[in-house]
Amino acid sequence: MAKFWKPGTEKPRLVEDEDGGVLFLYSSSSSSSSSSSTFGFANNLQNQRQRLPVYKRKDAILFLVENYATTIIVGETGSGKTTQIPQYLNEGGWSDDGHVIACTQPRRLAVQSVASRVAEEMGVKLGEEVGYVIRFEDVTTPGVTRVKFLTDGVLLREMMDDPLLSKYSVIMVDEAHERSISTDVVLGLLKKIQRRRPELRLIISSATIEAKSIASFFRPSKKHRGAGDDVVPKREPAIISAEGRGFTVGINYVQEPVADYLQAAVSTVMLIHKQQAAGDILVFLTGQDDIDAAAQLLNEEAQSSDRSTGGLLVLPLYSGLSRADQARILSSSVTLQDLVFSPTPRGKRKVIISTNIAETSLTLEGIVYVVDSGFSKQRFYDPISDIENLVVAPISKASARQRAGRAGRVRPGKCYRLYTEEYFVNEMPAEGIPEMQRSNLVSCVIQLKALGIDNILGFDWPASPSPEAMIRALEILYSLGVLDDDAKLTSPTGFQVAEIPLDPMLSKAMLASGELGCSEEMLTIAAALSVQSIWISIRGAQKQLDEARLRFAAAEVSPSAPLYSPMLRTQGDHVTFLNVYKGFLQSGKSSKWCHKNFVNYHAMKKVLETREQLKRTAQRLGIILKSCDKDMQAVRKAITAGFFANACHIEPYTHEGKFKTVRTSEDVYIHPSSVLFRVNPKWVVYHSLVSTDRRYMRNVVTIDPAWLVEVAPHYYQYQGPGSLNR
Ligand code: ADP
Ligand code: MG
Repeated sequence: MAKFWKPGTEKPRLVEDEDGGVLFLYSSSSSSSSSSSTFGFANNLQNQRQRLPVYKRKDAILFLVENYATTIIVGETGSGKTTQIPQYLNEGGWSDDGHVIACTQPRRLAVQSVASRVAEEMGVKLGEEVGYVIRFEDVTTPGVTRVKFLTDGVLLREMMDDPLLSKYSVIMVDEAHERSISTDVVLGLLKKIQRRRPELRLIISSATIEAKSIASFFRPSKKHRGAGDDVVPKREPAIISAEGRGFTVGINYVQEPVADYLQAAVSTVMLIHKQQAAGDILVFLTGQDDIDAAAQLLNEEAQSSDRSTGGLLVLPLYSGLSRADQARILSSSVTLQDLVFSPTPRGKRKVIISTNIAETSLTLEGIVYVVDSGFSKQRFYDPISDIENLVVAPISKASARQRAGRAGRVRPGKCYRLYTEEYFVNEMPAEGIPEMQRSNLVSCVIQLKALGIDNILGFDWPASPSPEAMIRALEILYSLGVLDDDAKLTSPTGFQVAEIPLDPMLSKAMLASGELGCSEEMLTIAAALSVQSIWISIRGAQKQLDEARLRFAAAEVSPSAPLYSPMLRTQGDHVTFLNVYKGFLQSGKSSKWCHKNFVNYHAMKKVLETREQLKRTAQRLGIILKSCDKDMQAVRKAITAGFFANACHIEPYTHEGKFKTVRTSEDVYIHPSSVLFRVNPKWVVYHSLVSTDRRYMRNVVTIDPAWLVEVAPHYYQYQGPGSLNR
């Protein structure tokens, strides 16, 4: 067991005033009655609604929205911003005359969750008056839906068809403190739209006071301030705060840094469970891998040890989790959503193990203990190598405070930080870096271009992106033939690539597949690449999984194909996707077949759905739908047409499978999960790079180097046999 916090040796301390602020010290007098619903009282939804802190501000909010173009609302997580304000607007008439109220979220899971909650509160069927849209999933009814939840990425896409977003009367940009890249782009564009549509109202809501800098972003410059002060709506943004109702949270730190935060989290949960009074536990880990691992460890512990550790209800919570997946984990038809948000059964203690989605976007009731690993998955981009990694990185103080605050929603709580106080005080950064400044900007640039914003460098960003990343994005788009010499979108390629809701390289491959007669195959590949993984991952069953994967690796498989042998020709991971898809269809979309082959059934269903959506886009763009049947060369060539910049060749005189990228001559290796691992073909293109101890290529396909010159003559020059230059 990890040697960190010694229960009983030290009383939990309340930490106030870390750097000037008071941590979750709100008066709790008015809220003590509000917890009753958590403990099993059937409570009228409307009563619950009226007890939320924003309810007291309802009239003020409606007044401000009426009179100000932009209203900024700051309120503690759980105060009712997301679920209530859209309803107030609806009641206030903002969805009359066919207008729609939009509320954006950075995360898909949050979109689905809040939409279903609001539908329930309004007593309507989800998809009718209240609906939601996420990429590849539209649950709305045009003409009927009045309140619409959507990701900010989807709102950006909608601007391509309707640049002024004319159907919306109010757009609420939620979770603005997260500063996700799409949120920032949306804010920049909405500021522009507002000038053209003075009647449009914006609400920007945030869990932290970070909103102040957003207010200054929306303050009109002198040039745009226009007529006098009596014009309605006023251009100056209004700020309102919905006071929180959190209780005090005692903070515990580990005494020594922990070596393994996952193990430490598990033992902390067990300690809390053994020694602390009733109350649910929320554990912040970083992603599917460590969450699933922790859930498994906790379940094992709970089963193996004595009765005192029974009664734990372990619930993972992360975005890749589909409703069906959740039901599978719980082996019942109850979804996790139902369980996570429903009162804890008597005698049980819930342990919700979550990504930072539970930090501010989802409100969980009944949490009294928080275990904070101090880490989250964050995007980091290196424009030189063009690697964008989701890496496990330390969180900021602002996040740590938010996490702790989750423990004080229903009564005083405790937070266990798996890092030292010294670290918190001296080393943890105060604020996170906006995602805009640590992301690949290719998709963002192409969308702005498609919206007719030519001067991207001069765009009014809430946070300026790095010039290196910007230049790199322009370079990539230029090489793909999406931008011309004047950095304008090319026609039709540029506009088509912008329209396909995929990464531009993959969109380009999609277009090429139309010309090469393999678009049916490319649709499958693109859909498979857009789910997290088509494989089931089971801890400890890596070998069986690898074998299952290799069975699908060869260009041709029969259901009873022998295990992989080097004699079979393996062409890459994309070809493997096609074989799995084929096998899945031939099995009659059987879940049994999936189970037997280590294929994730629910991921495959998602692939089918996504493929249908993409197919519709392809048809709209006039891409000729055709199958190349067994001609995998066409498929690999089409992939090369999109991913030529990711070409690599093997280093001939090494024995460890070292490749060099053609573009930058960097050392890269084939990822162990690839079917080409250890096969080491001469030339490959990869879909993405991840760097851990080494730089690994994921989703790799073999190519003929001659294709590079053929598909990208502007990018590569052939210089005699075996030599290729940029
Ligand atoms: P905010 O956006 O300010 O963080 P929300 O509007 O998400 O707050 O949540 C307000 C309240 O609504 C929460 O305190 C919780 O009681 C309740 N709530 C929100 N979502 C759900 C849900 N899916 N199921 C049950 N209750 C919910
Ligand atoms: Mg919210």
